[in-house]
Amino acid sequence: MDPRQAPPYVPLRGHPLTDDEFREREASTAWAPRLEYAWDAGIAISRFLEGLGQGAIYGVRCRRCGRTVTPPRAFCELDFKPMDEWVKLPETGTINTFSICYVTWDMKPLRVPQIPAVIEIDGTSPRVGFLHLVGGVRGRTVDQIRRQVRVGMPVRAVWKPPAKREGAITDILYFAPVRKRA
Ligand SMILES: [Zn+2]
Repeated sequence: MDPRQAPPYVPLRGHPLTDDEFREREASTAWAPRLEYAWDAGIAISRFLEGLGQGAIYGVRCRRCGRTVTPPRAFCELDFKPMDEWVKLPETGTINTFSICYVTWDMKPLRVPQIPAVIEIDGTSPRVGFLHLVGGVRGRTVDQIRRQVRVGMPVRAVWKPPAKREGAITDILYFAPVRKRA
């Protein structure tokens, strides 16, 4: 077959549902797959995750353009040079942008909203940040939260206890607003 040619379209055979089945979800099936897999995070992210397990945020610096980024990456995407100069960063940063979320990623309603935010860690280059959560904020309504959280606000990482860390981004529970920098 010509590799440039798309494979033929084969319509999937559906299962007709009655209105009652559709509404009562009797026809839906629960599939609990048994899947085992291994995933290699790569050199840069592996070291980043190990650092989180030890309560530290690491970044890398590009020797050519001088940018410092976290999460670390193996190569600078601007000049394609290896980023192999490791930098231990502070656990403080700034909220670049945030949202107030009343549903989980799979659309379950939340009574206490989550506040996903892009956090720029101090010591990194401008417009370098990662997605995490803002926490330690009282209130549930948009107005209550917006009185306490704003773009440009300084935050500090709140960590899991050392014994419960597992080398994951969730070793940081959330970033809490700080009134004064240490
Ligand atoms: Zn660079």
